[in-house]
Amino acid sequence: MSRLPVMSSKRVLACSSAENAQDLAPAQKRLRKDADLVKPAATVIGTKRPALAATRAPLCVIKQSVASAAAKGGNMKQPVVSTGTKTGGTQKRNPWDLKGKVSDMEDKVRNYQMKVKTLNQENEVLQDSVSQSQRKMVQVEKELQIQRSQIGEYERKLQVLAGVQDELEKVLSDKNFLQKELTNLEGKYKVMETLRDSQETELQTLKMKLSVQESTLARVQANLRDSEEEVRSLKETVAQQKDEIYAGEMERRRLHNTIQELKGNIRVFCRVRPLVGGGLPKHIQLATSDNKAITLAKTEESHTGKTADTQKNYNFSFDRVFGPRTSQQEVFEEISLLVQSALDGYNVCCFAYGQTGSGKTYTMEGDEFDETRGVIPRAVQQIFKAAGKLGEQGWEFTFTASFVEIYNETLRDLLYTGKSSKRPEHEIRKTASNEVTITNLTYERVINEDQVLGLIALANQNRSTAQTAQNDRSSRSHSVFQLDIEGVNAGRDVKCKSTLCLVDGWQRDDRHQGDRFKEMTAINGSLSNLGIVIAALANKESYVPYRNSKLTYLLQGCLGGNSKTLMFVNIAPEPDSFGETLNSLRFASKVSAVLFPVFTGRVH
Ligand code: ADP
Ligand code: MG
Repeated sequence: MSRLPVMSSKRVLACSSAENAQDLAPAQKRLRKDADLVKPAATVIGTKRPALAATRAPLCVIKQSVASAAAKGGNMKQPVVSTGTKTGGTQKRNPWDLKGKVSDMEDKVRNYQMKVKTLNQENEVLQDSVSQSQRKMVQVEKELQIQRSQIGEYERKLQVLAGVQDELEKVLSDKNFLQKELTNLEGKYKVMETLRDSQETELQTLKMKLSVQESTLARVQANLRDSEEEVRSLKETVAQQKDEIYAGEMERRRLHNTIQELKGNIRVFCRVRPLVGGGLPKHIQLATSDNKAITLAKTEESHTGKTADTQKNYNFSFDRVFGPRTSQQEVFEEISLLVQSALDGYNVCCFAYGQTGSGKTYTMEGDEFDETRGVIPRAVQQIFKAAGKLGEQGWEFTFTASFVEIYNETLRDLLYTGKSSKRPEHEIRKTASNEVTITNLTYERVINEDQVLGLIALANQNRSTAQTAQNDRSSRSHSVFQLDIEGVNAGRDVKCKSTLCLVDGWQRDDRHQGDRFKEMTAINGSLSNLGIVIAALANKESYVPYRNSKLTYLLQGCLGGNSKTLMFVNIAPEPDSFGETLNSLRFASKVSAVLFPVFTGRVH
């Protein structure tokens, strides 16, 4: 803010005192000059502050008073002019007119005195005006001070307001944020409201359902009480019927065994493998009337050419003859009765005998597909199924599987999984309770069919490893699968124990390959030993030479007493297998004849 040029009052006073001491004329000039000095100040003030224009008023007053004083002075001159002796006013007095001159001088003095008086008056007026102005200036300065402080105040307030503005902006943004959040929350609230509404409806529905169910429950509880009463009486009936069932089961076992014994504890079945291309060759004839006879026909050409060719027939009959079209299922149906016997506590042994490629493994193990599965997987399936059913009658079964190979009178564990270099040696031993066991053999506890199938796969793997090492091994070895079955009926305090024994690869002795048409006596080794053992058993001889071969020694538990034995003789249909086939059939027939001496005539 510009500062106003303020004239010092001292200077004004000094001027006025000096003027008093001087002539009127110079005093007048100076007065004008002083007035001029004051004027610009007044102009400056006037431009900036219209309020100060009032200070100019005294100046106008001064001019007016000067003018009036001048007018008065004029009046004072009037006498001088009217002294008429000197016409025209400026008329020069005569040197002698001293009186006139004095009067002129006196006029002049009066005139001057008047002027002085006027000037003094003017001066006073001016001084008044100056002091007035000074007072005003002081006042103005005070006001200025006040206004400055006010401005300072305003600036502070402005700063405060700026802060307030910032805060306001912050508050505004907060407000916007909160507004958005509010909208958001309102949206959520609406959703929650809808949810609440739907849940309330649901609750209502559930309440209704609950009340319905409560009444149902009450009804059911009433029914339950009735049922409990009924159950009590039914339980009594069940206990009674269980006794009857048990008695029935025991009766069934007895009858089943009688039937099996009537059928023969040792049975011989013959199975003819189909030709690779299908059909049946001319040299094998199956009886159409029954399924027990098979004829092997041989045409002998006339050596001389003069006589007609002669045909020689070899007729055999067995417990059952299966033709090449017989399915695995049909074959198993015959065996399944024996499998039932195994569960009933009788030892069962099933052999497959025949030349290589005649279908022994196919009969015993078969292929992996359902219809082509062989005797072992089917028997295992039947056993686990039947054991499950007997469980309902209080029977609990444990099954133990083992798989052993007999090759050159040496035993080999087919379930062995350790290092081949550490394979242990095995011996057949008899326990105190007259049971046959093999030392160091793997006896695996099994609880389901799949586990047994896994063991069969492991055995096959073990067998094929051994076969790679010795080429003709499979045609000279027998593999014996044994499933020990132990059943306990704790409620009835009864137990049963049996073994199901399935033998594959039981091969006639190779030393007699060439002796096609020789008598049965030519067959020895394991096969003849088995024949001898079976014969001794059939004749109820006191001594049965089980120990003569590892096979008969191992199977002795399954061969004697009320054990069931089934022998499959597998036949290869190719004409060049004629000799082997005849030998196989003759051996089987001999076994049959031993068992049924009455029908020895069947063997030709
Ligand atoms: P083995 O064990 O007596 O040496 P296999 O059981 O291995 O003989 O049978 C030789 C071949 O003949 C196998 O390929 C087998 O699948 C087949 N085979 C055997 N018997 C039958 C049959 N009844 N029906 C169809 N194929 C058979
Ligand atoms: Mg085989």
